[in-house]
Amino acid sequence: MRNKMTLGIKNYKDQLYICAKCGYCRVDCPIRKIKGFETSSPRAIFLLVKHYLDKKEGLPSELVEIIYQCTTCGLCREVCPTELDIPEIIRSLRMDIVKEQGKPIKGFIKATDNVLSKGNPLGRDRDERCDWVPDDIIIDKNSPNLFYVGCMYSYWEMHSAELTVRILNKINYSFKIMEEEPCCGMLECWDGEIEVAEEIARKNFEKFKAAGISTIITSCPGCYSTLKEAYPKLIGKEFKIIVLHISELLAQLIEEKKINFERENNITLTYHDPCHLGRYHGIYEAPRKIINALPGVKFIEMENIKEESNCCGGPLRTAFLDYAQEIGKNRALEIVNSGAKYVTTICPQCSISLRQAAALNELDFKVIDLIVLVAYALNLEEAEDYL
Ligand code: SF4
Ligand code: SF4
Repeated sequence: MRNKMTLGIKNYKDQLYICAKCGYCRVDCPIRKIKGFETSSPRAIFLLVKHYLDKKEGLPSELVEIIYQCTTCGLCREVCPTELDIPEIIRSLRMDIVKEQGKPIKGFIKATDNVLSKGNPLGRDRDERCDWVPDDIIIDKNSPNLFYVGCMYSYWEMHSAELTVRILNKINYSFKIMEEEPCCGMLECWDGEIEVAEEIARKNFEKFKAAGISTIITSCPGCYSTLKEAYPKLIGKEFKIIVLHISELLAQLIEEKKINFERENNITLTYHDPCHLGRYHGIYEAPRKIINALPGVKFIEMENIKEESNCCGGPLRTAFLDYAQEIGKNRALEIVNSGAKYVTTICPQCSISLRQAAALNELDFKVIDLIVLVAYALNLEEAEDYL
């Protein structure tokens, strides 16, 4: 018997009436901040949705657009005194929109077409997915550990994917990769296409089982969150694969003194918490443990960190690039204010957003994936090109 999909909140409409209209959620909401209109805040979205529910009318297209402009950063959830799971309510609203309209808003339709036809939302060729794999790497085809690369690392931040496998070799961690690695389906999990997400999850689970996978390691917080949190809900108890973010693995090995860093890097840097790693899974300390173990590195924190960290705008790049870039600029200015000339993070989407924000706004800092810094400290010469 198939398990029931449990993403989204069944009684979310009732929950809208719990909202105390206090407005805490609107203060730091990144999309409300850059648009400047109250209507973009969760409080206003809930009020407007209630209005149309009470009138038994469908949602107007302007409101549907606004519902899709939430980055799902989760900052509002941290401050809501009535403990509403605001991003999950947003997801539920999107699921109902897809149920009624048969599709999400325009920007997501192409992305899902690409996922289904090419295995990635970017529309890139399947044959190019493993172009980053170096010839001199040891891959153990019998390993139960899968390095799940993800679409963004496979096609955009390829140097980090390469350095990850070099690190895994250097620390003697056995792993394999899938030559035909499929997209995890994160977009479909969040854009309301939950039936498509379930289909993707089930197909992927069959592939993982056939490959004898018991542990998945990934560097991408989006893939991590999807595999770790969404898959057990979409597939059910049958999904027993251990899912680790690479920062958890590396931090643990550092603690056990199984990683010896050999090379100093005399830079001052700050760290940006990816929303779907930090707020969604509480992984705040593992990346900081790694940074603090890097020889020579002087680490300074930004003003807003951990639970209070601000979003890079990345999730909006699919359908609202202008807004994504404005949100990215706000976070980039916080990096400048920290005084650090380098920022590290461990998310391909965050790296791209912050790098672009620095370039578009002529801001003086460089973005380096934490994987590059680890590879450099481990004396891997290939890392030198990316510092
Ligand atoms: S999840 Fe982030 S973008 Fe969405 S409503 Fe909450 S604070 Fe705003
Ligand atoms: S913080 Fe929570 S209770 Fe207050 S307005 Fe926002 S959703 Fe409503």
